[in-house]
Amino acid sequence: MRQKIRRSFALLALLVFPLTLNYFSPYVSIDGAMVGVISGSVIVFILLFLSGIILGRAWCGWLCPMAGLSEMTLQINNKNVNIKNLRRVRLSIFAVWASILVLGFVLAGGIKGVNPLHLTENIISVDAPVKYIIYYSVLLIFTVLSIVLGKRGACQSICWMSPFLAAGYHVGKGLKIPQLRIVSQKDRCVSCGICDKKCPMSLPVSTMLKTDKMSTSDCILCGECVDHCKKNVLSYRFTVVK
Ligand code: SF4
Ligand code: SF4
Ligand code: SF4
Repeated sequence: MRQKIRRSFALLALLVFPLTLNYFSPYVSIDGAMVGVISGSVIVFILLFLSGIILGRAWCGWLCPMAGLSEMTLQINNKNVNIKNLRRVRLSIFAVWASILVLGFVLAGGIKGVNPLHLTENIISVDAPVKYIIYYSVLLIFTVLSIVLGKRGACQSICWMSPFLAAGYHVGKGLKIPQLRIVSQKDRCVSCGICDKKCPMSLPVSTMLKTDKMSTSDCILCGECVDHCKKNVLSYRFTVVK
């Protein structure tokens, strides 16, 4: 039941993506920075950071439009990816993008205003035929990468938003703020490996729980491992991460 609800949320987020595209756009944020404007996407990135403090990467599991797309591509390729290698690629892309963003504000002479509707004057992101090119390009890139690389391949390799969520997670952890996480009763585990197969983030869940390393910023709190474990080893809990 919980997974049906989660997939429904993710699918709904994907369906309304033509409305929300600009609020996740790395281009819109840079365009705003160049004129000293904090755009809607920068505001969303800040909100994602704040959500990460308490909810970790739950956004990625439940509400991101690309979560909906990833659920679909998993039907075609659900092989695990090399998390470490793709993380290097992702952080390199993020570093370049973040540098351009900061440089934009510097060249503009600092922050001059806030405009959530920057480049989105009609509120709807895809409001002209030409914008469908951007919309379909984003969908195509995420689909192809996920099919070619494997489980959530695009999320793992090119996402510019996940570092904000991961940063929020680490800040919350450092400040010892209770966070939503997956906890385990490892003595119940029979090492069947179902959780490893089901994890859409290619995490070695059964190994993590045995070594008391269940908490990680790579976990998107989707609950696939929780709901597929027949021994009820795993559960959600708000707790301080040690
Ligand atoms: S990794 Fe990025 S694109 Fe993927 S679900 Fe998370 S925020 Fe969305
Ligand atoms: S699915 Fe449950 S019993 Fe099986 S390995 Fe994972 S935690 Fe252990
Ligand atoms: S460890 Fe469990 S909750 Fe976390 S991403 Fe994997 S399946 Fe989802």
